[in-house]
Formats: sequence, structure tokens, C-alpha cells
Amino acid sequence: MSEKQVDVLLVGAGVMSATLAAMLTELDPNLSISIVERLPTVAGESSDGWNNAGTGHAGYCELNYTPQNKDGSIPIDRALSINAAFETSLQFWAYLVEQNILKAKSFINATPHLSFVWGQENVEFLKKRHTNLVQHPLFQDMEYSENFETLKQWMPLIMNGRDHHPAAATRVPYGTDVDFGALTRGLIIHLQSKKNIELALSHGVSKLKQDKRGIWNVKVRDLDSKKSKTIKAKFVFLGAGGGALPLLQKSGIPESKGYGGFPVSGLWLVCKNPEIIKQHNAKVYGKAAIGAPPMSVPHLDTRIIDGEPALLFGPYAGFTTKFLKKGSFLDLVKSFKMNNLKSMAFASLRNMGLTRYLIGEVFQSPESRIKSLQQYFPNAKTEDWHLAQAGQRVQIIKKCHKKGGKLEFGTEIVTAKDGSIAALLGASPGASTSVQAMTDVISLCFSDRIQTLEWKSKMRTMVPSYGKSLIDDPELLKEVRTRTLRTLQLNQETS
Ligand SMILES: Cc1cc2nc3c(=O)[nH]c(=O)nc-3n(C[C@H](O)[C@H](O)[C@H](O)COP(=O)(O)OP(=O)(O)OC[C@H]3O[C@@H](n4cnc5c(N)ncnc54)[C@H](O)[C@@H]3O)c2cc1C
Repeated sequence: MSEKQVDVLLVGAGVMSATLAAMLTELDPNLSISIVERLPTVAGESSDGWNNAGTGHAGYCELNYTPQNKDGSIPIDRALSINAAFETSLQFWAYLVEQNILKAKSFINATPHLSFVWGQENVEFLKKRHTNLVQHPLFQDMEYSENFETLKQWMPLIMNGRDHHPAAATRVPYGTDVDFGALTRGLIIHLQSKKNIELALSHGVSKLKQDKRGIWNVKVRDLDSKKSKTIKAKFVFLGAGGGALPLLQKSGIPESKGYGGFPVSGLWLVCKNPEIIKQHNAKVYGKAAIGAPPMSVPHLDTRIIDGEPALLFGPYAGFTTKFLKKGSFLDLVKSFKMNNLKSMAFASLRNMGLTRYLIGEVFQSPESRIKSLQQYFPNAKTEDWHLAQAGQRVQIIKKCHKKGGKLEFGTEIVTAKDGSIAALLGASPGASTSVQAMTDVISLCFSDRIQTLEWKSKMRTMVPSYGKSLIDDPELLKEVRTRTLRTLQLNQETS
């Protein structure tokens, strides 16, 4: 078995590893970096355009980021922090475009973000949500309307064939559709031109162990030749998507104890009929059905994937025991460990309703799926739509002192105390906040180097708002947003 040594080993070639590698190599071009991917392609799991919704999550249209309290109030803090995190991504992507590393339209397109509701109670909720959000500079351009003609102009497919009952929508013109697969592949092509960076496709990580010197010995198997080798790395990032939890468990670090995973699958309805596609230019998010998890909020989206336009509706969430789309049905069973039994058991008991809902979704008939679509697009015809499988999400289960265990819908970075290994768990808001998440990994795991003037100033070149708050500094926000909208060509209505 051969051996090699690197500074950084990234497991998985999805958007997270690609972003971390791109940032680290800008910070220190001398770092030796290995990326190991079990599939024969880059971005073959969640990051591929067909496997996710491609929404640049900014809190503009996702009503689940501003749930209403029992007293009727609508807090906006979560929407503010997600919006600010997305602005961080936009800044880094604008930097990459300015450096000619990526081309704007190849991975990101302006696509207005709308929230659409009907029924008096929902209309009142949306109006109040708008009133709260629009007062903050991050959301100052959000429009609101109950006027049928305006709504028809914003989203003709959705309004044609609908009666005039109370309905309302909000709209932000510079919402985005992001092809995270194209972004990842663009980053990897750029990284492959660097002499210190190596990519091994069809190579799976099976084991990892830290030696006495703190170096990680990572067993990597060539899935074609079936030969194994050990890569020694000072720092390991488990950017393996649904595969991150099993690897984190194998690392044996104390911080991994108690974590478990709850897999959720998904389906889209896809339309490729050009006559229909040209009548819709938006991402229109509605309200989740009662009992539905936050990731199954229905939305009708304009998508551009690998340069090709399409309309996607969904996702219809479902239940499976796989942690990766190309994973094994044994993934869930194998993830049960002595140290997470309690959290898994308590979280499962508390979420029986969710499991029942997801299993029910799996057995939905094609007619009932079309009926859900027709709530948004009343004139939709079955023959224009086909089903496609979305990517796999693994929601986080973790210890909870009060409840024994809890299920979470966010993203979390788990790091060892010595900063030698980090794992990214969970899937929401996901790829949109990849730059913020990877900046956090750098701060936690390269804590000495990030204090140096050299790294700090390079971070500010890549992300000008680094270390400052876009939520509290309207002048900085204005400066940053003007640049990102221009560079990424997102201001379609004013350009
Ligand atoms: C249905 C759905 C809709 C979504 N919608 C959105 C959205 O609208 N907006 C948004 O921002 N995010 C969205 N997300 C989330 C987003 O897709 C993910 O957060 C993001 O792609 C995760 O990137 P990643 O690099 O961590 O993982 P992935 O892209 O899954 O990459 C992980 C890679 O690791 C590899 N791997 C796994 N195990 C091993 C191993 N042992 N050895 C080597 N390689 C391994 C896998 O093959 C894979 O290629 C959605 C996700 C899903 C499933």
C-alpha cells in the first residue's frame, strides 16, 4: 500500500470542498491539497443542478425562514442572517468572476424570487411579513401586491385560470437561480490548473485515524483497480454530503458522539416544453402543507441547468434509508452507534408524524402530484411534466439534554478541538451559504493563520465584508450589493 503526505485532504468533490479548496489556495498557494471523490464525476450528488432546487437562499421567498409566533408576531432574524450569509457567497463569486476564474452567466442567473399565498389569513401573514422585512436595508427592494393584474404580470402561469379570491405575493427582482453543479465544476477545473492540487475521482475514503503527532492517516481505495493507499494529512475536511456522518463517526473524535442522521429523499416534476417555460420567469414559493417538513415547501421554479432552461415543481419529499443518492440502503442502519442510540431513539419517537408524512409522500399517485402542481399552475397538463429524482438530504439528529435527542433542519460544522478535522452535516440552507460555512471552517481550523495580516487582508479581497456585519452596516451593504449585482449581472431590470 503506497503512502503520500499533504497539508489538506478534502473528502468529496461537491460545492463545499470545491469552495474550501478555492479559498485556501487563494490564501496560501503553497498548500498541498488532495480532493478525493468516490464517484467518477465531480458534483455527482447534492451539488448537481438536477439534484437540488438551485435557489440562492436569501430569505426573499422562503416563508419557513419567518414562521409566525403564536402571538401573531413574525420575527425576521433568521431571514436576516441567511440573507447576509448569501451576500457573502455573492461577494466571493463576484471575486471569482473578476479574476476570470468563472463566468457569471455560466452558474448564476437573476430570477425574481416570489412568495405567493391565497386565502385571507395567509394574505394577512404575507402582508405583515413584508412590512417587517422591507424596513430592513437587506430587504428594502421587496415589493408586495394583492392586485390581480400585477400578480398576473409577475407570474402569468400561476394567475391564468385562477379565480379572483384574495391572493398576494411579494417579489424581489434580483433573486437568483444558481447551478451549483456548474459552479462546482468550474471551481474544480480552475483548481486542477494549480500544481499543488490533486483530484482523485472514483476513490473512496474508507477509514481515518489520527496518529500521535496529530496527523490523519486516511485510507483511500481506488474503486476501479481496488487498490488502497494511505494519505497522510495535517487537516481533513469531510465534505462528503450524506457520507460525512459515517466518516465523522469513523474518525472517533469526541465531538462526533451523539450525532445521527435522518435521510429525506425528493422528487421533482420537470417541464421541458419551451412554450410553457417562456411564460414563467421566477421562483415562486408557497406555504408548506400542515405536517410537512420545511424542505418540502412547494415551489415552481425557472431553472437553467448546464445552460438549458426548464421548469421544476416540488420537491415531493420522501423517505429512504440511503444517505447518498448513489449510496446503500444499509446507510441508516450502519449509522446506529452506542453513542447515538439515545438521540436517534428520542428524535425518531418525537418525529413519527414526519416519518408517516414522508412515507405517505412516497406512495402519492401521479394524479395527486399533478393536483398539487395545479394549485400553483391551474392549467398544467400531465403530458408536459415528467418525474425526476432529486438529491438526498441527511438531516441532523443530535443530543439534547432536555429531550434526549432532536432533529434539526439546518447545517452544522463539527470540528475536533485541535482543529485538525472538520465535517459539514445537514443540508439547509446548504449550498447558498457555502462561502460563509467554509469561512467558518477556516476560522475554526486555521485559527493561527487567519489572525495574520496576510490572510486577513486576502480574506477582505475575496469577501470585502469579512469580519463586519452586513445586517448592521447599511453603507457597507450598499457598496457590496452594488458590486455583486453588477459583476454577477443580476440587476436585470435596471441594466
Ligand atoms: C432536494 C434538494 C434541494 C436542495 N435545494 C437547495 C437550494 O435550493 N439551494 C441551496 O443552496 N441548497 C439546496 N440544497 C442543498 C445543497 O444541495 C447541499 O447543501 C450541497 O450541495 C451540499 O454540498 P456538499 O459538497 O456538502 O455535498 P455533495 O454535493 O453531496 O458532495 C459530497 C460528495 O462527497 C462524495 N462522497 C461521499 N462519501 C465519500 C467517501 N467516503 N469518499 C469519497 N467521496 C465521498 C459524494 O459522492 C459527493 O460527490 C438542496 C438539496 C437537496 C437534496
